[in-house]
Amino acid sequence: MHYDVVIIGAGMSGLAAGIRLAYFDKRVAILEKHYAFGGLNSYYRLGARDFDVGLHAVTNYVGPQQRNAPLNKLFRQLRLDREEFDLHPQNYSEVRFPGATLRFSNDIALLTEEVARAFPGEVDNFRRLIHDIEHYDDTRLDVPYLSTRSVLRDYFREPMLIEMLLCPVMFYGSAEERDMDWTAFVILFRSIFLEGFARPREGVRPIIRALVKKFRSCGGKIRMSCGVQHLEVRDGRVGGVVLESGESITADTVFSSAGYEETMRLCELRDSPEPSFSPSPQPSPLEGEGGMARLSFVETIGILDTAPAALGHEATIVFYNDADAFTYETPREPVDLRSGILCCPNNYAGHDSLPEGVVRLTWLASYDHWVGLDGEAYGAAKRAYHPSFIEQASRFLPGMADHLVFTDMFTPRTIWQYTGHLKGAVYGSPRKRRDGRTPLSNLFVCGTDQGYLGIVGAMLSGITMANMHVLGRQ
Ligand SMILES: Cc1cc2nc3c(=O)[nH]c(=O)nc-3n(C[C@H](O)[C@H](O)[C@H](O)COP(=O)(O)OP(=O)(O)OC[C@H]3O[C@@H](n4cnc5c(N)ncnc54)[C@H](O)[C@@H]3O)c2cc1C
Repeated sequence: MHYDVVIIGAGMSGLAAGIRLAYFDKRVAILEKHYAFGGLNSYYRLGARDFDVGLHAVTNYVGPQQRNAPLNKLFRQLRLDREEFDLHPQNYSEVRFPGATLRFSNDIALLTEEVARAFPGEVDNFRRLIHDIEHYDDTRLDVPYLSTRSVLRDYFREPMLIEMLLCPVMFYGSAEERDMDWTAFVILFRSIFLEGFARPREGVRPIIRALVKKFRSCGGKIRMSCGVQHLEVRDGRVGGVVLESGESITADTVFSSAGYEETMRLCELRDSPEPSFSPSPQPSPLEGEGGMARLSFVETIGILDTAPAALGHEATIVFYNDADAFTYETPREPVDLRSGILCCPNNYAGHDSLPEGVVRLTWLASYDHWVGLDGEAYGAAKRAYHPSFIEQASRFLPGMADHLVFTDMFTPRTIWQYTGHLKGAVYGSPRKRRDGRTPLSNLFVCGTDQGYLGIVGAMLSGITMANMHVLGRQ
């Protein structure tokens, strides 16, 4: 079987790339090793309930009138009707540190007011930061690495404000520990604070449904439970895609959303040099060990017999940190309880009709710990964190323990098992391949390791890579 393009992975980036290519009459096949679509943002059914794997918020939310915003570009490029995503905006969210809380919504005016209230001497600096971020060109591929912490220190005198701005941004997309590249910060800051959060009432399912339906209607082919075992390399190109079943497929071009390192392993090119045509603008922090993917999370999902609002909690997402400084790194312990993200899907506009209350609590976690446990010890370790879940969630939803009817927990091991991402690393490698190129001339990475993160980011990555490397459009 021969295709114009084979795409590894039916996550957000693979599906979006597939739609774009199939729409322009390319013969495209998406190969997915899991039985469910969505990759890192998939869904499952347990105990007669539907769960999302990852969805807290669709970031980048804007109304239809902001035509040049990423979300609206995405709808245009994929020829999707925005109604199909059924997006409902957040109530408001919070960053909570000891002695200071900043509320924010999908209108930056609220966060500006909150900065003026909590850090009165910094509000003009905050306005200057917003102005500079609004005018920053994030499309250039050759910008050198710049430490976000050092840039923010040039704007602000209050260290805690820097930590409070970094906390949601790093939690929602930094593959780097402790600091992050300025361009990545700008992209995420816009997506979280200048645009905002929304959610489909049914969770991630409508988004996946719309993508799969569109891809198929354009003539694309998807094969599920169809893992790629390896890529045959001939003369500096991928000559064949060999499936776990032993079947072989050929394609002019191969896109992989499996991750850069994971894809190199499929080609047995782990130690291959960087291609000379791919500029490597980012110096030291992300080279060598610093470039290894490692940040992962545990999440407990609690089902309540009442809505969070009935317990006095109306915030959509709370990013909390129990010290003045925010520590974003792989913990030495199984789970880092010092900071976390508490998300209540009920607290989006129009979500009061959800049948049950839901609380999602996410913490940084150590992949090495969780993957080293055998079946029984693994279950026991998960159960050991149940009291911490109740304790932390009860800080925001007092009395929630009396309303808890079901919990489920996933760990870095779950993420690795279902997506194949090394170390269960949700945001991939800190070293992004912004041009998508690999040492093989017809193999390109899309999604997490290309550089755009999250649901909207991954879809934009698929679109950009399809435009750039196959369709010859910008
Ligand atoms: C717990 C959690 C919470 C999250 N919350 C949010 C959120 O609230 N908002 C948000 O915007 N983003 C969130 N994200 C991030 C978001 O889900 C990802 O950034 C995005 O989905 C990545 O898409 P992708 O296409 O790049 O990669 P993936 O989704 O990882 O897709 C890659 C696909 O490739 C498949 N694959 C891998 N190897 C092979 C192989 N050899 N053969 C065939 N198939 C293969 C995998 O099975 C997978 O389906 C969250 C992620 C997690 C894990």
